[in-house]
Amino acid sequence: MSDQMKLRLALMGRLNAVEERIAAACDRAGRDRGEVTLVAVTKTVSPELAELIADLGVYHLGENRPQELWRKAAAIDRALWWHLVGHLQRNKVERTLPLVHLIHSVDSARLLDAIEAEAARQVRIADVLLEVNVSREANKHGFAPEEVPDLVPRITALNNVRVKGLMTMAAYEEDPQRCRPTFAALRHLRDQLRAELGSAHPLEHLSMGMTNDFEVAVEEGATMVRIGSALFEGLTEGVKA
Ligand SMILES: *Cc1c(COP(=O)(O)O)cnc(C)c1O
Repeated sequence: MSDQMKLRLALMGRLNAVEERIAAACDRAGRDRGEVTLVAVTKTVSPELAELIADLGVYHLGENRPQELWRKAAAIDRALWWHLVGHLQRNKVERTLPLVHLIHSVDSARLLDAIEAEAARQVRIADVLLEVNVSREANKHGFAPEEVPDLVPRITALNNVRVKGLMTMAAYEEDPQRCRPTFAALRHLRDQLRAELGSAHPLEHLSMGMTNDFEVAVEEGATMVRIGSALFEGLTEGVKA
């Protein structure tokens, strides 16, 4: 069997395992599997491996660094939905906007304003999520939860940006059940914000859950899970060995 075929089979096995776990979490929560989008985070893998997962039917790919997203989007010659899940510097907004389906990581009012201005200049609508640092870790980006309600007037005034929901990263926990309060808090914040914003801003998305904690996140209402390691970790090396 060729290395390429081995890699494809190994990745298929990983994807099936992740899919089964998402489906089981949906079942436990009484949710439809169709409510949850799997975003494969390709930050640690080559464009070839990223393309391979698209071949297997995963068309939502995520990167945490804008430059790496630009590089992969240019290297992969097919239509994909790119998600930026990491910090976006304002000087990288211009190049990023035409490439991305959704920016998960709007972490300041200044960045929101910069995206609004650039989207207007490019005559496009930018879809974004607001990143909230629910776990309040100093090394994480994001709004403090209490800052989010203050954003209501700003969100209402946007013309070229649609705020589609909220995103968070839970603190790493040995026992993922301990991430549950973080995810529940993000959902409550979303519900509160939605009530203040009204029907023009349905805030349909909760981007939460990574390899360590995605099942708990799905149980708590995630509509997007961002998964890297469970799909890709050790794969290339394992196949070569
Ligand atoms: C890397 C990354 C992920 C994926 O993390 P895994 O634990 O590898 O699944 C998700 N979200 C963000 C923002 C990331 O940087």
